[in-house]
Amino acid sequence: MNILLIEDDEVLSDGLTHTLSNIGYSVTGATTGAYAEHLLKAQGFDLIILDLGLPDMDGLQLLRRLRGQKLSLPILVLTARDDMNNRIEGISQGADDYMTKPFELRELEARLHALVRRCYGGFSHIIEIGSLQLDTSSHQIMAKGEMLSLSAREAAVLEVLMMQKGKVISKDKIAQHLSLHGDALADNAIEVYIHRIRKRIEPFYASIRTLRGLGYLLESKLDE
Ligand code: CA
Repeated sequence: MNILLIEDDEVLSDGLTHTLSNIGYSVTGATTGAYAEHLLKAQGFDLIILDLGLPDMDGLQLLRRLRGQKLSLPILVLTARDDMNNRIEGISQGADDYMTKPFELRELEARLHALVRRCYGGFSHIIEIGSLQLDTSSHQIMAKGEMLSLSAREAAVLEVLMMQKGKVISKDKIAQHLSLHGDALADNAIEVYIHRIRKRIEPFYASIRTLRGLGYLLESKLDE
């Protein structure tokens, strides 16, 4: 699920990117409306988070323009509380949901999940690597039609690697993901999990490459 985050507040944008990446969304940031429009022409997104107070244009204007172009992506609007009442009509015309600042990240997470469910009908998205398949709604990892047997932590590590398909994931990021699941980690725990996962996924044309100092990359062996 690719999110375009249009937000000029760097602290908020970084926090959101961090949180959303950790739960498996892929986030691309734009700090101006013009850059957001450029990105929308250049690549596909599944959802937009739009701040209304942008430096180069009014977010509401951008919202109208996008809808005018028949852009049907779900859009979640972020707006300052004071601004909200004046704008509610405009927002409700173009946005699928809105949140007033400040908000709790957890609430945004819940709203996003709900929005994705509403707009993509359950968002059962299958990510494939080699002959492994991750169902992002049930969090199940299948291999050749059967559930891959892994411990809960190993499955969580493999899930984050699959979610970020094609990207190098640092050990810290994996640790953060696991700690979201309420686990405290021993030193070297990630290496141990990776070692076990490697063995487990080898028959399914998938492998994990270690990039020194950077992290891990899950690769398909079917492409070769
Ligand atoms: Ca702003």
